[in-house]
Amino acid sequence: MSQTAFSTLNLKPDLLSNLSSLGYEAMTPIQAQSLPHILAGKDVIAQGKTGSGKTAAFGLGLLDHLNVKRFRVQSLVLCPTRELADQVAKEIRKLARAIHNIKVLTLCGGMPFGPQIGSLEHGAHIIVGTPGRVEEHVRKGFLNLDDLNMLILDEADRMLEMGFQDALDTIIDAAPERRQTLLFSATYPKQIESIAKRIMHKPVMAKVESTHDNSSIQQHFYKVDSNEDRMIGLRLLLSQHRPESAVVFCNTKRETQEVADDLEHYGFSAIALHGDLEQRERDQTLVRFANKSASVLVATDVAARGLDIDALDAVINYHVARDTEVHVHRIGRTGRAGSKGIACSFFSDKEHYKIALLEDYLDKTIEGEELPPMHLLDQPTHRPAMVTLQIGGGKKQKVRPGDILGALTGDNGIAGNQVGKINVFDMCAYVAVHREVARAALKKLENGKMKGRSFRVRQIRD
Ligand code: AMP
Repeated sequence: MSQTAFSTLNLKPDLLSNLSSLGYEAMTPIQAQSLPHILAGKDVIAQGKTGSGKTAAFGLGLLDHLNVKRFRVQSLVLCPTRELADQVAKEIRKLARAIHNIKVLTLCGGMPFGPQIGSLEHGAHIIVGTPGRVEEHVRKGFLNLDDLNMLILDEADRMLEMGFQDALDTIIDAAPERRQTLLFSATYPKQIESIAKRIMHKPVMAKVESTHDNSSIQQHFYKVDSNEDRMIGLRLLLSQHRPESAVVFCNTKRETQEVADDLEHYGFSAIALHGDLEQRERDQTLVRFANKSASVLVATDVAARGLDIDALDAVINYHVARDTEVHVHRIGRTGRAGSKGIACSFFSDKEHYKIALLEDYLDKTIEGEELPPMHLLDQPTHRPAMVTLQIGGGKKQKVRPGDILGALTGDNGIAGNQVGKINVFDMCAYVAVHREVARAALKKLENGKMKGRSFRVRQIRD
């Protein structure tokens, strides 16, 4: 039997058989490194990034320890963003399919507070949430952690970066001393070391070297002398590669917005993602990028966490990241799932020390390459294949994806294959349709009815 077979672990049979039905045949490196310790009840620090299978590593651990008959909060997973919390909850539900009556509840900021109190009154075994909101429920007495036996900090580095330290402390104070604590983090700065010392008991370190293997990613570096050059360089690269989905990383919120505005001004379909957006704007931005109606997302590192996009064609570092690990993490987002991606980085003389660090890390000299030829700027810019329509009704109005699809395609409507992703939120919904049929689709939704009524519909300008 292979050492990475799940059957080498002492997992509950229900969990094990479900894994093969999910198509999980062998453990990923992070799972192989951490699961034996997690199942043995030890505290574990694991360095794993999104895509490594870390969610299943702690998800299987907490499900294995869970006593379903005891209807109390037994595990708590804290995540930096709502998107990540939603993904984690989804993965846990998937892993728990074979066990009946497991209740997983998400408690995230940016969502109405009242209904969460109601859900807590109904009870749950597992809570997945963001620190600020979970802390508020703990502080106000709606969430009792007396029966907690497993605490998981996912993307702990980001939670600290986002200023959640105090919230984390309050939550941890409310949890029993005798518990198992797991900490997942892409990077391992000093701050993490000190929090681990305070809250963990003899932790085992599970580090996977292969998270640093970016050999399938082609890296390119371009030297620029001024900010104008940087913007021209960015336009040239986007004009040459014409990516369907690319992320441009900036180091500050302000620059993120400026770069997105400039790109838009030059005719690119670019949007900014940073911490100053309101939840609604953030949702909309993520929806448009994921449904391929916006092709360039300009983001800060913090904001881009929890971004669940399988295949980025390109990652562009408008500035080289402040430290090497962040750089490696950024470029690891391209070329996922076996597809080849490119990573491009701009640097100026001033940033040479960061390049020197990268050279050490990559063990090779980095030379600036020539940018693509200037005449590319005369070409029309790439337009995304899809456009997004926004519908003024959502879950509260009982609108479901099927209603939207039905309204679009029924009765001489547009073809089903012209419809892309559908996202339904509480008060609104978004649907992506192919650009050529956007007008027809808009008409169809405006004139048709869903749940017996008509809704306001508009095309989001791009
Ligand atoms: P994560 O790093 O937790 O975001 O997981 C990345 C993806 O890998 C998720 O879609 C999981 O469903 C999937 N996954 C996790 N573990 C395995 C495994 N052992 N075999 C196959 N797929 C897996």
